[in-house]
Amino acid sequence: MPGKFFGGVHPAQNKSDSAKKEIRTPRSPEIVVIPMSMHVGAQCRPLVGKGDYVALGQIIGDSDAPVSAPIHASVSGTVVAVEARPHPSGSRVLSVVIANDFKDTPAGDPDVRTDVSDLSPESIADIIRSAGIVGLGGAAFPTHAKIRSGLGKVDTVIINGAECEPYITSGYRGMLENGDELLGGARIFRKIYGLESVTIAIEDNKADAIRHLKRLLPSSDNSIRIISLKTRYPQGAEKQLIQTVTGRQVPPGGLPADVGCAVFNTDTAAAVYRAVYNGVPLTQKVVTVAGSAVASPVNLRVRIGTPFSELFSACGGFKETPRKIVMGGPMTGLAQHDLSAPVIKGTNCILALSDHECGRAVSERACIRCGRCIEACPMRLMPMLMYAYEQKGDLDELEKLNVTDCIECGCCGYICPGRLHLVQSFKTGKKKLAEKRAKEAAR
Ligand code: SF4
Ligand code: SF4
Repeated sequence: MPGKFFGGVHPAQNKSDSAKKEIRTPRSPEIVVIPMSMHVGAQCRPLVGKGDYVALGQIIGDSDAPVSAPIHASVSGTVVAVEARPHPSGSRVLSVVIANDFKDTPAGDPDVRTDVSDLSPESIADIIRSAGIVGLGGAAFPTHAKIRSGLGKVDTVIINGAECEPYITSGYRGMLENGDELLGGARIFRKIYGLESVTIAIEDNKADAIRHLKRLLPSSDNSIRIISLKTRYPQGAEKQLIQTVTGRQVPPGGLPADVGCAVFNTDTAAAVYRAVYNGVPLTQKVVTVAGSAVASPVNLRVRIGTPFSELFSACGGFKETPRKIVMGGPMTGLAQHDLSAPVIKGTNCILALSDHECGRAVSERACIRCGRCIEACPMRLMPMLMYAYEQKGDLDELEKLNVTDCIECGCCGYICPGRLHLVQSFKTGKKKLAEKRAKEAAR
């Protein structure tokens, strides 16, 4: 039976506007801007230059590093630039810019398979690497590297259908519209780890997705277990999901494989199915476009590298001037200041938020020592004290409080009556600590 994780909050879901509409595929863009850094790990080096013709699905960037994933052209056309361009992270990142010829000329015949029973776990991981698949729930950790790091350790695979963050419905629509691919991907993970069954975990605010997937499963098929979880944020965070589903706790600084678990997003599972059976690399993403300032919220299937401005245009533009644009959900997303930044592999949502969605403005931000942040923190940290030490620049105390275990879920900031910028403070603190450690190591 599913259990419960510590802490958490219940923010307004705001999912209904985009949830009820089918995924739409707009016309592909004139230009795609494909950054060479779209995943956790080493940046890719470009394999093409200005003036080259590239085919759809051709590898245009790669790296020899073990934690990385190749990058493919999402349209066919001509490379018009290889240069630093705006990136959703806020910095400028080396990117391959392709002028679309709208022919979608393929990069060769796909490697189609009807039977994967003879494939070894390593060879499946190789296929997944070749397809450029990374965690599509937003984490963007290369999937082949996660698979390899868990071989021989993992006895439990959880397919993560929690999608707990407000507004985001791309995974939900994927479960309804690509359920067979998702189940096929789940079976591939089961095969990789040699398990009797895998678990698909979905929050109970997506009851129709649970029913739909159960209907797709033959009654005699015990290889996939579908479970319903109580809706609570951040249920979909790896460590919290593991605790809920298995009762196991990933130790501080540890990884899911340390407690025998591997967690893969539902969209990642579907992408793995397409790569292994259909030979299709990752060139498209389903992105929720939502927020009160958007004329017509919807989920769009778009080419990786599509500028954010095109996504808003495809939804009828803005019905009012947004106060804030965010890539990702409102709890963990990144504020965007340049709409020429493109959809990357980890983009699952882009929000245009109005004044009322951004919360009240406060003139003075102060801690009133209410302790609510401590109750809400799913990692059992002390946000109130971490904030105080980060503000003082006391990195030793910050480290003692395990700031590096902060998953940046935003629960503390959401609940804080003092409206403190807690998560921003912890991100800064972690960065300073990493710099300090790097300096000490270099001595
Ligand atoms: S919730 Fe905010 S005001 Fe309350 S103790 Fe935590 S930091 Fe202070
Ligand atoms: S952002 Fe970090 S400190 Fe705040 S609740 Fe989440 S894990 Fe805890």
